[in-house]
Amino acid sequence: MPIALSNTLPGKNRAVQLLILAALGACICVAAAGWLHYSAAKKLNESRDWIEHSQTVMSSLRSESQVADRIDTATRLFQLTKDEENIRSAQTSQVSFNSGALRLQDLTSDNPRQNGQARKLVVCADSLGKAIGRLKEQGDAVTNPLSQCRLILGTLQEVERELLSQRTDESKLNSQRSIILSVSFTVLSILVILALFGFLLRDAVRRKQYERRLYEANEKLASTVRALERQAKESTLLTSVRDELQLCVRLAQAQECAIRYFEQLLPGTSGSICLTNNTRHMVEEVASWGSSTLVMDAFTLEGCCGLRSGRMRWRRPMQSEVHCTHFNGHVPEYYVCIPLAAYGDTLGVVYIECLSPGVAAMVDANMAPIEQIVELASISFAGLNLRSRLEQQSIRDGLTGLFNRHYMEMALDRELRRGARHNKPVAVMMMDIDHFKRFNDTYGHEAGDTVLRELAENFLQAVRNEDILCRFGGEEFVAILPELDLEAAMQRAEGLRTMVSEMRIYNRGECLPEVTTSIGVAIYPQHAETVEEILRSADRALYEAKHLGRNRVVPAESVLLA
Ligand code: GH3
Ligand code: MG
Ligand code: MG
Repeated sequence: MPIALSNTLPGKNRAVQLLILAALGACICVAAAGWLHYSAAKKLNESRDWIEHSQTVMSSLRSESQVADRIDTATRLFQLTKDEENIRSAQTSQVSFNSGALRLQDLTSDNPRQNGQARKLVVCADSLGKAIGRLKEQGDAVTNPLSQCRLILGTLQEVERELLSQRTDESKLNSQRSIILSVSFTVLSILVILALFGFLLRDAVRRKQYERRLYEANEKLASTVRALERQAKESTLLTSVRDELQLCVRLAQAQECAIRYFEQLLPGTSGSICLTNNTRHMVEEVASWGSSTLVMDAFTLEGCCGLRSGRMRWRRPMQSEVHCTHFNGHVPEYYVCIPLAAYGDTLGVVYIECLSPGVAAMVDANMAPIEQIVELASISFAGLNLRSRLEQQSIRDGLTGLFNRHYMEMALDRELRRGARHNKPVAVMMMDIDHFKRFNDTYGHEAGDTVLRELAENFLQAVRNEDILCRFGGEEFVAILPELDLEAAMQRAEGLRTMVSEMRIYNRGECLPEVTTSIGVAIYPQHAETVEEILRSADRALYEAKHLGRNRVVPAESVLLA
Protein backbone atom coordinates (compact mmCIF):
# COMPACT_ATOMS: atom_id res chain seq x y z
CA MET A 1 0.00 0.00 0.00
CA PRO A 2 1.82 3.17 -1.18
CA ILE A 3 2.06 6.18 1.18
CA ALA A 4 0.12 9.29 -0.02
CA LEU A 5 2.49 12.15 -0.95
CA SER A 6 0.27 15.11 0.01
CA ASN A 7 -0.03 13.99 3.62
CA THR A 8 3.71 13.88 4.09
CA LEU A 9 4.66 17.43 2.91
CA PRO A 10 5.21 19.66 5.95
CA GLY A 11 4.76 23.46 5.55
CA LYS A 12 2.86 22.89 2.31
CA ASN A 13 0.36 25.69 3.06
CA ARG A 14 3.13 28.20 3.81
CA ALA A 15 4.90 27.32 0.56
CA VAL A 16 1.68 27.80 -1.40
CA GLN A 17 1.10 31.20 0.25
CA LEU A 18 4.64 32.28 -0.60
CA LEU A 19 4.18 31.13 -4.18
CA ILE A 20 0.91 33.07 -4.54
CA LEU A 21 2.54 36.19 -3.03
CA ALA A 22 5.54 35.89 -5.35
CA ALA A 23 3.30 35.42 -8.40
CA LEU A 24 1.18 38.45 -7.37
CA GLY A 25 4.36 40.54 -6.86
CA ALA A 26 5.62 39.52 -10.29
CA CYS A 27 2.28 40.47 -11.90
CA ILE A 28 2.21 43.85 -10.11
CA CYS A 29 5.81 44.61 -11.13
CA VAL A 30 5.18 43.68 -14.75
CA ALA A 31 1.94 45.74 -14.85
CA ALA A 32 3.67 48.76 -13.19
CA ALA A 33 6.60 48.50 -15.58
CA GLY A 34 4.17 48.38 -18.51
CA TRP A 35 2.23 51.41 -17.27
CA LEU A 36 5.42 53.39 -16.68
CA HIS A 37 6.70 52.46 -20.13
CA TYR A 38 3.42 53.56 -21.63
CA SER A 39 3.36 56.95 -19.86
CA ALA A 40 7.07 57.59 -20.60
CA ALA A 41 6.51 56.78 -24.27
CA LYS A 42 3.48 59.08 -24.28
CA LYS A 43 5.49 61.93 -22.74
CA LEU A 44 8.33 61.36 -25.19
CA ASN A 45 5.86 61.49 -28.07
CA GLU A 46 4.40 64.72 -26.76
CA SER A 47 7.88 66.25 -26.33
CA ARG A 48 8.76 65.23 -29.87
CA ASP A 49 5.52 66.76 -31.17
CA TRP A 50 6.33 70.03 -29.38
CA ILE A 51 9.87 70.03 -30.74
CA GLU A 52 8.54 69.37 -34.24
CA HIS A 53 5.99 72.15 -33.71
CA SER A 54 8.69 74.60 -32.65
CA GLN A 55 10.82 73.55 -35.63
CA THR A 56 7.84 74.18 -37.95
CA VAL A 57 7.37 77.64 -36.39
CA MET A 58 11.10 78.34 -36.75
CA SER A 59 11.01 77.18 -40.36
CA SER A 60 8.01 79.49 -41.07
CA LEU A 61 9.82 82.37 -39.38
CA ARG A 62 12.90 81.76 -41.51
CA SER A 63 10.86 81.74 -44.73
CA GLU A 64 9.05 84.91 -43.55
CA SER A 65 12.47 86.55 -43.03
CA GLN A 66 13.53 85.46 -46.52
CA VAL A 67 10.29 86.88 -48.00
CA ALA A 68 10.94 90.13 -46.08
CA ASP A 69 14.44 90.14 -47.58
CA ARG A 70 12.98 89.68 -51.08
CA ILE A 71 10.51 92.58 -50.49
CA ASP A 72 13.46 94.72 -49.27
CA THR A 73 15.52 93.80 -52.33
CA ALA A 74 12.61 94.49 -54.75
CA THR A 75 11.89 97.93 -53.19
CA ARG A 76 15.56 98.90 -53.30
CA LEU A 77 15.80 97.83 -56.92
CA PHE A 78 12.73 99.88 -57.72
CA GLN A 79 14.29 102.88 -56.05
CA LEU A 80 17.40 102.45 -58.17
CA THR A 81 15.85 101.41 -61.51
CA LYS A 82 12.31 102.74 -61.19
CA ASP A 83 11.28 99.57 -62.91
CA GLU A 84 7.68 98.83 -61.93
CA GLU A 85 8.29 95.17 -62.39
CA ASN A 86 10.08 95.37 -59.01
CA ILE A 87 6.97 96.80 -57.37
CA ARG A 88 4.95 93.87 -58.72
CA SER A 89 7.57 91.48 -57.43
CA ALA A 90 7.47 93.21 -54.02
CA GLN A 91 3.66 92.98 -54.00
CA THR A 92 3.78 89.26 -54.85
CA SER A 93 6.24 88.71 -52.03
CA GLN A 94 4.06 90.76 -49.67
CA VAL A 95 1.10 88.45 -50.44
CA SER A 96 3.28 85.52 -49.54
CA PHE A 97 4.50 87.39 -46.42
CA ASN A 98 0.94 88.06 -45.43
CA SER A 99 -0.15 84.44 -45.79
CA GLY A 100 3.00 83.41 -43.91
CA ALA A 101 2.05 85.79 -41.08
CA LEU A 102 -1.47 84.30 -40.96
CA ARG A 103 -0.02 80.82 -40.89
CA LEU A 104 2.24 81.83 -37.98
CA GLN A 105 -0.80 83.21 -36.19
CA ASP A 106 -2.39 79.77 -36.54
CA LEU A 107 0.77 77.91 -35.51
CA THR A 108 1.22 79.96 -32.35
CA SER A 109 -2.41 79.70 -31.23
CA ASP A 110 -1.22 77.41 -28.33
CA ASN A 111 1.09 80.12 -26.95
CA PRO A 112 -0.61 83.44 -26.10
CA ARG A 113 2.65 85.39 -25.99
CA GLN A 114 3.84 84.21 -29.43
CA ASN A 115 0.30 84.45 -30.76
CA GLY A 116 0.23 88.16 -29.76
CA GLN A 117 3.44 88.76 -31.69
CA ALA A 118 2.07 86.82 -34.69
CA ARG A 119 -1.07 89.00 -34.71
CA LYS A 120 1.20 92.06 -34.64
CA LEU A 121 3.06 90.53 -37.61
CA VAL A 122 -0.25 90.15 -39.51
CA VAL A 123 -1.03 93.84 -38.87
CA CYS A 124 2.52 94.79 -39.85
CA ALA A 125 2.21 92.74 -43.09
CA ASP A 126 -0.93 94.71 -43.89
CA SER A 127 0.95 98.00 -43.29
CA LEU A 128 3.76 96.69 -45.49
CA GLY A 129 1.33 95.95 -48.28
CA LYS A 130 -0.08 99.44 -48.10
CA ALA A 131 3.47 100.93 -48.04
CA ILE A 132 4.37 98.99 -51.21
CA GLY A 133 1.28 100.54 -52.85
CA ARG A 134 2.64 103.98 -52.07
CA LEU A 135 6.12 103.19 -53.27
CA LYS A 136 5.78 105.06 -56.58
CA GLU A 137 4.87 108.26 -54.75
CA GLN A 138 6.99 107.72 -51.67
CA GLY A 139 10.32 105.96 -52.30
CA ASP A 140 11.08 104.99 -48.64
CA ALA A 141 7.51 104.11 -47.69
CA VAL A 142 8.37 100.42 -46.92
CA THR A 143 11.44 101.08 -44.72
CA ASN A 144 9.52 101.54 -41.48
CA PRO A 145 6.93 98.74 -41.79
CA LEU A 146 9.62 96.37 -43.07
CA SER A 147 11.97 97.01 -40.16
CA GLN A 148 8.98 96.67 -37.81
CA CYS A 149 8.12 93.36 -39.39
CA ARG A 150 11.74 92.21 -39.07
CA LEU A 151 11.75 93.26 -35.43
CA ILE A 152 8.60 91.23 -34.76
CA LEU A 153 10.07 88.29 -36.67
CA GLY A 154 13.26 88.58 -34.62
CA THR A 155 11.28 88.57 -31.35
CA LEU A 156 9.23 85.60 -32.51
CA GLN A 157 12.39 83.73 -33.56
CA GLU A 158 14.12 84.43 -30.24
CA VAL A 159 11.15 83.28 -28.14
CA GLU A 160 10.62 80.22 -30.32
CA ARG A 161 14.31 79.32 -30.10
CA GLU A 162 14.06 79.50 -26.30
CA LEU A 163 10.93 77.31 -26.42
CA LEU A 164 12.71 74.84 -28.67
CA SER A 165 15.67 74.72 -26.31
CA GLN A 166 13.34 74.21 -23.30
CA ARG A 167 11.38 71.49 -25.09
CA THR A 168 14.58 69.70 -26.18
CA ASP A 169 15.85 69.74 -22.56
CA GLU A 170 12.49 68.48 -21.32
CA SER A 171 12.49 65.72 -23.90
CA LYS A 172 16.00 64.67 -22.87
CA LEU A 173 14.92 64.63 -19.21
CA ASN A 174 11.84 62.54 -20.03
CA SER A 175 13.95 60.19 -22.03
CA GLN A 176 16.47 59.76 -19.15
CA ARG A 177 13.64 59.28 -16.65
CA SER A 178 12.08 56.71 -18.92
CA ILE A 179 15.39 54.82 -19.23
CA ILE A 180 15.99 54.89 -15.45
CA LEU A 181 12.44 53.74 -14.73
CA SER A 182 12.60 51.04 -17.38
CA VAL A 183 15.89 49.73 -16.06
CA SER A 184 14.70 49.90 -12.44
CA PHE A 185 11.44 48.11 -13.11
CA THR A 186 13.07 45.59 -15.39
CA VAL A 187 15.60 44.81 -12.64
CA LEU A 188 12.81 44.68 -10.06
CA SER A 189 10.71 42.39 -12.28
CA ILE A 190 13.72 40.13 -12.85
CA LEU A 191 14.31 39.99 -9.09
CA VAL A 192 10.69 39.17 -8.36
CA ILE A 193 10.62 36.55 -11.13
CA LEU A 194 13.90 35.14 -9.81
CA ALA A 195 12.37 34.96 -6.32
CA LEU A 196 9.33 33.23 -7.78
CA PHE A 197 11.55 30.83 -9.68
CA GLY A 198 13.56 30.26 -6.46
CA PHE A 199 10.38 29.32 -4.60
CA LEU A 200 9.35 27.00 -7.40
CA LEU A 201 12.81 25.48 -7.55
CA ARG A 202 12.96 24.97 -3.79
CA ASP A 203 9.52 23.43 -3.86
CA ALA A 204 10.50 21.16 -6.75
CA VAL A 205 13.71 20.08 -4.96
CA ARG A 206 11.78 19.38 -1.75
CA ARG A 207 9.11 17.53 -3.67
CA LYS A 208 11.81 15.47 -5.34
CA GLN A 209 13.36 14.66 -1.94
CA TYR A 210 9.99 13.70 -0.49
CA GLU A 211 9.22 11.62 -3.54
CA ARG A 212 12.57 9.82 -3.16
CA ARG A 213 11.95 9.20 0.54
CA LEU A 214 8.43 8.11 -0.25
CA TYR A 215 9.70 5.76 -2.96
CA GLU A 216 12.24 4.28 -0.52
CA ALA A 217 9.57 3.91 2.16
CA ASN A 218 7.21 2.28 -0.34
CA GLU A 219 9.98 -0.05 -1.50
CA LYS A 220 10.68 -1.04 2.12
CA LEU A 221 7.00 -1.54 2.75
CA ALA A 222 6.62 -3.61 -0.42
CA SER A 223 9.60 -5.81 0.48
CA THR A 224 8.21 -6.26 4.02
CA VAL A 225 4.82 -7.18 2.56
CA ARG A 226 6.52 -9.59 0.14
CA ALA A 227 8.48 -11.15 3.02
CA LEU A 228 5.31 -11.44 5.12
CA GLU A 229 3.44 -12.99 2.20
CA ARG A 230 6.29 -15.44 1.67
CA GLN A 231 6.33 -16.25 5.38
CA ALA A 232 2.55 -16.72 5.37
CA LYS A 233 2.82 -18.99 2.32
CA GLU A 234 5.66 -20.95 3.93
CA SER A 235 3.75 -21.18 7.17
CA THR A 236 0.62 -22.47 5.34
CA LEU A 237 2.76 -24.96 3.44
CA LEU A 238 4.52 -26.15 6.60
CA THR A 239 1.23 -26.44 8.46
CA SER A 240 -0.19 -28.65 5.72
CA VAL A 241 3.06 -30.69 5.56
CA ARG A 242 2.87 -31.24 9.33
CA ASP A 243 -0.86 -32.05 9.21
CA GLU A 244 -0.43 -34.53 6.37
CA LEU A 245 2.63 -36.17 7.90
CA GLN A 246 0.67 -36.62 11.12
CA LEU A 247 -2.02 -38.46 9.17
CA CYS A 248 0.48 -40.95 7.76
CA VAL A 249 0.48 -44.36 9.43
CA ARG A 250 3.08 -46.02 7.24
CA LEU A 251 6.61 -44.95 6.45
CA ALA A 252 5.97 -45.17 2.68
CA GLN A 253 3.00 -42.82 3.03
CA ALA A 254 5.12 -40.27 4.89
CA GLN A 255 7.84 -40.52 2.24
CA GLU A 256 5.32 -39.93 -0.57
CA CYS A 257 3.88 -36.99 1.31
CA ALA A 258 7.32 -35.36 1.78
CA ILE A 259 8.15 -35.99 -1.89
CA ARG A 260 4.89 -34.31 -2.97
CA TYR A 261 5.74 -31.15 -1.02
CA PHE A 262 9.34 -31.03 -2.25
CA GLU A 263 8.04 -31.30 -5.82
CA GLN A 264 5.51 -28.53 -5.19
CA LEU A 265 8.02 -26.21 -3.48
CA LEU A 266 10.89 -26.82 -5.90
CA PRO A 267 9.63 -26.92 -9.49
CA GLY A 268 12.35 -27.70 -12.03
CA THR A 269 14.34 -29.84 -9.61
CA SER A 270 14.62 -33.57 -9.18
CA GLY A 271 15.56 -35.30 -5.98
CA SER A 272 15.17 -38.26 -3.72
CA ILE A 273 14.80 -39.39 -0.15
CA CYS A 274 17.45 -41.93 0.83
CA LEU A 275 17.13 -43.80 4.13
CA THR A 276 19.57 -45.93 6.09
CA ASN A 277 18.70 -49.63 5.94
CA ASN A 278 18.39 -52.07 8.85
CA THR A 279 22.11 -52.70 8.98
CA ARG A 280 22.70 -48.93 9.34
CA HIS A 281 25.70 -49.17 7.04
CA MET A 282 23.97 -48.52 3.73
CA VAL A 283 21.67 -45.76 2.50
CA GLU A 284 18.96 -46.68 -0.01
CA GLU A 285 16.91 -44.44 -2.29
CA VAL A 286 13.30 -45.02 -1.20
CA ALA A 287 11.38 -42.26 -3.01
CA SER A 288 12.06 -39.59 -5.64
CA TRP A 289 10.53 -36.67 -7.54
CA GLY A 290 11.16 -35.02 -10.92
CA SER A 291 13.11 -36.75 -13.65
CA SER A 292 15.33 -39.59 -12.46
CA THR A 293 18.33 -38.48 -10.43
CA LEU A 294 21.94 -39.50 -10.88
CA VAL A 295 22.11 -40.96 -7.37
CA MET A 296 22.86 -44.69 -6.85
CA ASP A 297 20.08 -46.94 -5.56
CA ALA A 298 22.20 -47.76 -2.52
CA PHE A 299 25.43 -46.30 -1.16
CA THR A 300 27.47 -46.18 2.02
CA LEU A 301 27.02 -43.45 4.64
CA GLU A 302 30.54 -42.23 3.88
CA GLY A 303 29.56 -41.66 0.23
CA CYS A 304 27.56 -38.52 1.11
CA CYS A 305 29.37 -35.36 2.23
CA GLY A 306 26.14 -34.12 3.86
CA LEU A 307 25.84 -37.28 5.96
CA ARG A 308 29.56 -37.16 6.79
CA SER A 309 29.37 -33.56 7.99
CA GLY A 310 25.99 -34.06 9.65
CA ARG A 311 24.51 -30.87 8.13
CA MET A 312 23.11 -29.44 4.91
CA ARG A 313 25.77 -29.25 2.23
CA TRP A 314 25.74 -27.56 -1.18
CA ARG A 315 27.98 -28.64 -4.02
CA ARG A 316 28.52 -25.73 -6.42
CA PRO A 317 31.36 -24.92 -8.81
CA MET A 318 33.88 -22.38 -7.43
CA GLN A 319 32.34 -22.66 -3.97
CA SER A 320 32.52 -26.25 -2.79
CA GLU A 321 34.31 -28.47 -5.24
CA VAL A 322 34.32 -31.78 -3.33
CA HIS A 323 31.78 -34.23 -4.73
CA CYS A 324 29.79 -36.92 -2.97
CA THR A 325 30.48 -40.41 -4.32
CA HIS A 326 26.90 -41.64 -4.46
CA PHE A 327 26.50 -41.15 -8.23
CA ASN A 328 26.10 -43.52 -11.17
CA GLY A 329 28.88 -42.31 -13.45
CA HIS A 330 27.95 -38.75 -14.45
CA VAL A 331 28.12 -36.22 -11.59
CA PRO A 332 25.85 -33.12 -11.53
CA GLU A 333 27.31 -29.61 -11.05
CA TYR A 334 24.71 -28.27 -8.60
CA TYR A 335 23.18 -30.38 -5.82
CA VAL A 336 22.46 -30.21 -2.12
CA CYS A 337 22.35 -33.01 0.48
CA ILE A 338 20.34 -32.41 3.66
CA PRO A 339 20.66 -35.08 6.36
CA LEU A 340 17.47 -36.52 7.85
CA ALA A 341 18.01 -36.79 11.59
CA ALA A 342 15.75 -37.02 14.62
CA TYR A 343 16.27 -37.75 18.31
CA GLY A 344 20.04 -37.94 17.73
CA ASP A 345 19.61 -40.63 15.08
CA THR A 346 20.70 -40.23 11.44
CA LEU A 347 17.85 -41.57 9.30
CA GLY A 348 19.18 -40.75 5.84
CA VAL A 349 19.48 -37.82 3.46
CA VAL A 350 17.33 -35.66 1.19
CA TYR A 351 19.14 -35.14 -2.11
CA ILE A 352 18.13 -32.21 -4.39
CA GLU A 353 19.58 -32.00 -7.90
CA CYS A 354 19.52 -28.64 -9.80
CA LEU A 355 19.86 -28.54 -13.57
CA SER A 356 21.09 -24.92 -13.75
CA PRO A 357 22.55 -22.15 -11.55
CA GLY A 358 19.15 -20.39 -11.71
CA VAL A 359 17.37 -23.42 -10.27
CA ALA A 360 20.11 -23.70 -7.61
CA ALA A 361 19.49 -20.04 -6.67
CA MET A 362 15.75 -20.75 -6.38
CA VAL A 363 16.45 -23.76 -4.12
CA ASP A 364 18.81 -21.62 -2.02
CA ALA A 365 16.11 -18.94 -1.64
CA ASN A 366 13.69 -21.63 -0.36
CA MET A 367 16.21 -23.24 1.99
CA ALA A 368 14.37 -22.20 5.18
CA PRO A 369 11.09 -24.02 4.30
CA ILE A 370 13.06 -26.94 2.79
CA GLU A 371 14.96 -27.46 6.03
CA GLN A 372 11.73 -27.24 7.99
CA ILE A 373 10.09 -29.87 5.76
CA VAL A 374 13.18 -32.05 6.18
CA GLU A 375 12.93 -31.62 9.96
CA LEU A 376 9.20 -32.45 9.98
CA ALA A 377 9.80 -35.43 7.70
CA SER A 378 12.66 -36.65 9.95
CA ILE A 379 10.45 -36.50 13.03
CA SER A 380 7.64 -38.24 11.14
CA PHE A 381 9.94 -40.98 9.77
CA ALA A 382 11.48 -41.55 13.20
CA GLY A 383 8.02 -41.67 14.82
CA LEU A 384 6.71 -44.13 12.24
CA ASN A 385 9.83 -46.28 12.59
CA LEU A 386 9.35 -46.36 16.35
CA ARG A 387 5.67 -47.09 15.94
CA SER A 388 6.35 -49.95 13.59
CA ARG A 389 9.00 -51.32 15.98
CA LEU A 390 6.56 -51.10 18.90
CA GLU A 391 3.86 -52.70 16.78
CA GLN A 392 6.22 -55.50 15.89
CA GLN A 393 7.14 -55.92 19.53
CA SER A 394 3.51 -56.00 20.60
CA ILE A 395 2.39 -58.57 18.03
CA ARG A 396 5.53 -60.61 17.42
CA ASP A 397 7.61 -62.98 19.42
CA GLY A 398 11.07 -61.70 20.15
CA LEU A 399 12.95 -64.98 19.64
CA THR A 400 11.42 -66.30 16.43
CA GLY A 401 9.87 -63.19 14.86
CA LEU A 402 6.58 -65.08 14.46
CA PHE A 403 3.29 -63.55 15.64
CA ASN A 404 2.61 -63.97 19.36
CA ARG A 405 -0.31 -65.75 20.95
CA HIS A 406 -2.30 -62.55 21.50
CA TYR A 407 -2.10 -61.63 17.82
CA MET A 408 -2.86 -65.20 16.82
CA GLU A 409 -6.12 -65.17 18.78
CA MET A 410 -7.21 -61.95 17.06
CA ALA A 411 -6.16 -63.24 13.65
CA LEU A 412 -7.94 -66.56 14.21
CA ASP A 413 -11.13 -64.73 15.19
CA ARG A 414 -10.88 -62.64 12.00
CA GLU A 415 -10.23 -65.69 9.82
CA LEU A 416 -13.12 -67.66 11.33
CA ARG A 417 -15.45 -64.75 10.61
CA ARG A 418 -14.14 -64.50 7.06
CA GLY A 419 -14.56 -68.26 6.62
CA ALA A 420 -18.16 -67.99 7.85
CA ARG A 421 -18.81 -65.10 5.48
CA HIS A 422 -17.43 -66.89 2.44
CA ASN A 423 -18.51 -70.31 3.59
CA LYS A 424 -14.93 -71.60 3.49
CA PRO A 425 -13.05 -73.84 5.94
CA VAL A 426 -10.15 -72.67 8.13
CA ALA A 427 -7.50 -75.15 9.25
CA VAL A 428 -5.66 -74.77 12.56
CA MET A 429 -2.50 -76.75 13.34
CA MET A 430 -0.98 -76.99 16.78
CA MET A 431 2.64 -78.15 16.67
CA ASP A 432 4.86 -79.13 19.61
CA ILE A 433 8.50 -80.23 19.61
CA ASP A 434 8.93 -83.70 21.04
CA HIS A 435 10.97 -84.15 24.20
CA PHE A 436 12.29 -80.64 24.03
CA LYS A 437 12.99 -80.51 27.74
CA ARG A 438 15.36 -83.35 27.32
CA PHE A 439 16.94 -81.63 24.32
CA ASN A 440 17.49 -78.49 26.35
CA ASP A 441 18.87 -80.42 29.23
CA THR A 442 21.30 -82.27 26.95
CA TYR A 443 22.46 -79.52 24.54
CA GLY A 444 21.77 -76.39 26.47
CA HIS A 445 19.19 -73.63 26.32
CA GLU A 446 21.09 -71.74 23.66
CA ALA A 447 20.97 -74.71 21.29
CA GLY A 448 17.27 -75.00 22.10
CA ASP A 449 16.80 -71.36 21.10
CA THR A 450 18.62 -71.97 17.82
CA VAL A 451 16.28 -74.90 17.10
CA LEU A 452 13.25 -72.71 17.81
CA ARG A 453 14.54 -69.93 15.49
CA GLU A 454 15.45 -72.31 12.66
CA LEU A 455 12.14 -74.11 12.93
CA ALA A 456 10.22 -70.81 12.76
CA GLU A 457 12.16 -69.74 9.68
CA ASN A 458 11.53 -73.00 7.91
CA PHE A 459 7.85 -73.00 8.84
CA LEU A 460 7.56 -69.47 7.38
CA GLN A 461 9.08 -70.57 4.10
CA ALA A 462 6.90 -73.64 3.92
CA VAL A 463 3.49 -71.90 4.33
CA ARG A 464 1.58 -69.55 1.96
CA ASN A 465 1.61 -65.78 2.31
CA GLU A 466 -1.95 -65.72 3.55
CA ASP A 467 -1.23 -68.31 6.27
CA ILE A 468 -0.56 -67.01 9.78
CA LEU A 469 2.17 -68.58 11.89
CA CYS A 470 2.65 -67.87 15.57
CA ARG A 471 4.53 -69.07 18.58
CA PHE A 472 1.85 -70.27 20.94
CA GLY A 473 4.20 -70.54 23.87
CA GLY A 474 7.41 -72.41 24.83
CA GLU A 475 8.11 -74.93 22.09
CA GLU A 476 4.56 -74.89 20.71
CA PHE A 477 3.48 -73.26 17.42
CA VAL A 478 0.07 -72.59 15.86
CA ALA A 479 -0.57 -72.25 12.14
CA ILE A 480 -3.82 -70.78 10.77
CA LEU A 481 -4.41 -71.87 7.16
CA PRO A 482 -7.48 -70.27 5.56
CA GLU A 483 -9.58 -72.18 3.00
CA LEU A 484 -7.89 -75.54 3.68
CA ASP A 485 -10.11 -78.58 4.30
CA LEU A 486 -9.06 -81.50 6.52
CA GLU A 487 -7.45 -83.48 3.74
CA ALA A 488 -5.33 -80.63 2.45
CA ALA A 489 -4.44 -79.57 5.97
CA MET A 490 -3.36 -83.12 6.87
CA GLN A 491 -1.13 -83.20 3.80
CA ARG A 492 0.39 -79.84 4.64
CA ALA A 493 0.94 -80.90 8.31
CA GLU A 494 2.57 -84.10 7.18
CA GLY A 495 4.86 -82.07 4.97
CA LEU A 496 5.84 -79.85 7.86
CA ARG A 497 6.45 -82.80 10.15
CA THR A 498 8.69 -84.44 7.55
CA MET A 499 10.50 -81.14 6.95
CA VAL A 500 11.29 -80.79 10.67
CA SER A 501 12.52 -84.35 10.98
CA GLU A 502 14.82 -83.81 8.02
CA MET A 503 16.22 -80.48 9.15
CA ARG A 504 19.92 -80.21 9.93
CA ILE A 505 20.49 -77.54 12.54
CA TYR A 506 23.90 -76.19 13.54
CA ASN A 507 24.81 -74.40 16.73
CA ARG A 508 28.30 -72.89 17.11
CA GLY A 509 29.42 -75.02 14.15
CA GLU A 510 28.14 -78.21 15.72
CA CYS A 511 25.40 -80.20 14.05
CA LEU A 512 22.56 -80.86 16.47
CA PRO A 513 20.61 -84.13 16.54
CA GLU A 514 17.32 -84.26 14.70
CA VAL A 515 14.17 -82.98 16.35
CA THR A 516 10.65 -84.16 15.68
CA THR A 517 7.25 -82.57 16.07
CA SER A 518 3.79 -83.75 16.84
CA ILE A 519 0.91 -81.93 15.13
CA GLY A 520 -2.78 -81.74 15.94
CA VAL A 521 -5.11 -80.52 13.13
CA ALA A 522 -8.61 -79.04 13.62
CA ILE A 523 -10.90 -77.61 10.89
CA TYR A 524 -13.51 -74.87 11.11
CA PRO A 525 -16.43 -75.43 11.02
CA GLN A 526 -15.97 -79.21 10.86
CA HIS A 527 -14.52 -79.65 14.40
CA ALA A 528 -15.36 -76.39 16.14
CA GLU A 529 -16.79 -72.92 15.50
CA THR A 530 -15.17 -70.61 18.04
CA VAL A 531 -11.59 -69.59 18.68
CA GLU A 532 -11.43 -71.31 22.06
CA GLU A 533 -13.08 -74.49 20.82
CA ILE A 534 -10.96 -74.90 17.72
CA LEU A 535 -7.76 -74.29 19.70
CA ARG A 536 -8.91 -76.81 22.25
CA SER A 537 -9.71 -79.32 19.44
CA ALA A 538 -6.26 -78.88 17.89
CA ASP A 539 -4.63 -79.16 21.33
CA ARG A 540 -6.51 -82.35 22.03
CA ALA A 541 -5.41 -83.77 18.66
CA LEU A 542 -1.81 -82.82 19.56
CA TYR A 543 -2.14 -84.52 22.91
CA GLU A 544 -3.39 -87.58 21.09
CA ALA A 545 -0.37 -87.45 18.75
CA LYS A 546 1.94 -87.38 21.79
CA HIS A 547 0.02 -90.15 23.33
CA LEU A 548 0.32 -92.28 20.21
CA GLY A 549 4.10 -92.04 20.26
CA ARG A 550 5.00 -88.49 18.96
CA ASN A 551 6.42 -87.42 15.57
CA ARG A 552 3.03 -87.72 13.92
CA VAL A 553 -0.01 -85.78 12.70
CA VAL A 554 -3.41 -86.39 14.25
CA PRO A 555 -6.70 -84.83 13.11
CA ALA A 556 -9.25 -83.61 15.63
CA GLU A 557 -11.79 -85.93 14.01
CA SER A 558 -10.08 -89.04 15.34
CA VAL A 559 -10.15 -87.53 18.83
CA LEU A 560 -13.90 -87.04 18.49
CA LEU A 561 -14.27 -90.63 17.32
CA ALA A 562 -12.14 -91.82 20.14
P1 GH3 B 1 6.79 -83.52 25.01
O1 GH3 B 1 7.36 -84.36 23.99
O2 GH3 B 1 5.75 -84.20 25.85
O3 GH3 B 1 6.29 -82.23 24.55
O4 GH3 B 1 7.97 -83.27 26.03
P2 GH3 B 1 8.61 -81.91 26.23
O5 GH3 B 1 9.84 -82.09 27.06
O6 GH3 B 1 8.84 -81.20 24.99
O7 GH3 B 1 7.55 -81.11 27.05
P3 GH3 B 1 7.60 -80.25 28.32
O8 GH3 B 1 6.34 -79.46 28.41
O9 GH3 B 1 7.84 -81.16 29.51
O10 GH3 B 1 8.83 -79.32 28.24
C1 GH3 B 1 8.86 -78.19 27.40
C2 GH3 B 1 10.22 -77.66 27.41
O11 GH3 B 1 10.42 -76.67 26.46
C3 GH3 B 1 10.58 -77.03 28.72
C4 GH3 B 1 11.56 -75.97 28.36
O12 GH3 B 1 12.83 -76.37 28.75
C5 GH3 B 1 11.47 -75.90 26.88
N1 GH3 B 1 11.30 -74.55 26.47
C6 GH3 B 1 10.16 -73.81 26.56
N2 GH3 B 1 10.40 -72.56 26.07
C7 GH3 B 1 11.71 -72.50 25.68
C8 GH3 B 1 12.52 -71.51 25.11
O13 GH3 B 1 12.14 -70.42 24.86
N3 GH3 B 1 13.81 -71.84 24.85
C9 GH3 B 1 14.33 -73.07 25.10
N4 GH3 B 1 15.57 -73.35 24.82
N5 GH3 B 1 13.57 -73.99 25.65
C10 GH3 B 1 12.28 -73.75 25.92
MG1 MG C 1 4.96 -78.40 25.03
MG1 MG D 1 7.28 -80.69 23.69
